[in-house]
Amino acid sequence: WKHAPGHFRALLEMSRFHGDKVFLTYEDEHITYEEHFRRAATLARRLVEEYGVAKGDRVAIAMRNYPEWVVSFSAALAAGAVAVPLNAWWTRPELEFGLSDSGSKVLIADGERAALLAGAGPALIVTRGEVPEGARSFQDVLGEVAADVTLPEVELSPEDPATIFYTSGTTGVPKGALGSHRNLGQSPMTVAYSLLRAVVRAGRDAGESAGQRRVTLLTVPLFHVTGCFAVMTTTMFTGGGLVLMYKWDPGKALELIEREKITGISGVPTNVWQLLSHPDLEKYDISSLNALGYGGAPAPPKLLERIGEKLPSRAPTNGYGMTETTALAINNAGADYAAKPDSIGLPVAVVDVKIADPLGEELPVGEVGELCMRGPNVIMGYWNRPEATAETFVGGWLHTGDLARIDEDGFVYIVDRAKDMVIRGGENVYCAEVEAALFEHPAVDDAAVIGIPHDELGEEVGAVVRLKSPVAPEELQEFLRGRIASFKVPVRFWIREAELPRNPGGKILKTHLRKEVLGS
Ligand code: ATP
Ligand code: MG
Repeated sequence: WKHAPGHFRALLEMSRFHGDKVFLTYEDEHITYEEHFRRAATLARRLVEEYGVAKGDRVAIAMRNYPEWVVSFSAALAAGAVAVPLNAWWTRPELEFGLSDSGSKVLIADGERAALLAGAGPALIVTRGEVPEGARSFQDVLGEVAADVTLPEVELSPEDPATIFYTSGTTGVPKGALGSHRNLGQSPMTVAYSLLRAVVRAGRDAGESAGQRRVTLLTVPLFHVTGCFAVMTTTMFTGGGLVLMYKWDPGKALELIEREKITGISGVPTNVWQLLSHPDLEKYDISSLNALGYGGAPAPPKLLERIGEKLPSRAPTNGYGMTETTALAINNAGADYAAKPDSIGLPVAVVDVKIADPLGEELPVGEVGELCMRGPNVIMGYWNRPEATAETFVGGWLHTGDLARIDEDGFVYIVDRAKDMVIRGGENVYCAEVEAALFEHPAVDDAAVIGIPHDELGEEVGAVVRLKSPVAPEELQEFLRGRIASFKVPVRFWIREAELPRNPGGKILKTHLRKEVLGS
């Protein structure tokens, strides 16, 4: 117990007491809490003793959602290193950027990523696939896992850096978000508390729910904060089970819910939508599922309706968070969500929120401005990006880049991303508002609103839509005119047959779309 001060090490040592309970399930592999602890502690020792990893060194992880991802993350942090989860969807140049930007000393990768990255620089440890020359296999590095293994000696304080997660890159090149042990340490309690509060607000028995073993299906990647913190470390904290999938597949998810008696899923809105729209939904017994959480991207209003139709007794939770807030920061659940479906809810217990004008001054209730946050969940800054850090973290407040308002009850409403606004002749048009209006039309399956450059007005409003049944653009315009001011109605429509391009986080890639339809 002399190792307890670093927050993550405390979480890891504590999780060992869940002993024989299954922590990680992948296909037919099951890893208990005790096994996870032993493997993580052993790997931590190997990193220190054989790879010379010292406190503050970066250890990158580039893999799909395999159990080894979790073991590697735990090991890196237990060794005092900074874990750098890289996006497993990235191409070779993007992965190389992540490695060199973070200055990682060791890379732990799956076979697919290792094949892309062989010879890229750091010492390479490979799992599930071919081991390129000069690299070692995960199994070989781990060697014998002793029953009495302990964590290596390292002094850590809550202010020490723990993680570098790259932001999604929706608004430009991804930035490395540097999180501390304090950020990481508060997260599971914040999330677990919010989940329990959601149960209470849904009118269910919180005592029963708190005592029940949770088995969560991870529908999102571990390399984003939602997967890692809102789901993985929270599971570790509560002693629940975590079921991993190589990649998101709604049909497979239904199978797993039935087979593993999944009690909760947490993902992006698209995951839940696809699950509940699956043609085989009725064929599976998904009665074990009682917690339905989503967030990370705007939830289309029709999602709540669909949940009401298909799973009426399950009260969903909409969570708002950023890489910079170590996942969950604001959430809406149960009766609150039913009463205010377009709100992202109330700030979680540890967070202070304000709506600010461009100078950072707090605005009165109801006015739209930039959402700013402060609290132990807000990261230290961006890795190696002093200018971006100075711009975003001002006087202790994180400037989110999201436009929002707060109502008289303290509920937060996201209006749009500041960068996702179309400015038409000096009038602000919030893409999210126009998209929500489009979604109300029964023929619209998906929609993205973009700015079209215009000589006089600066920008005009355009929309890319995917349809369920044919409808003329004029009819859509007519429909919108009854709902939003005419200057907000798109003047041009592009009808798309394929699905709209989304990143693994469920966010529409508007830069791609713009290039596709406008060529710039
Ligand atoms: P980058 O910062 O690199 O451009 P990103 O902001 O998409 O990318 P993330 O940190 O993954 O990277 O996403 C945070 C953003 O996601 C928030 O700023 C907000 O715009 C959006 N978001 C998260 N949760 C919600 C939600 N529940 N409702 C609406 N928007 C959300
Ligand atoms: Mg961002």
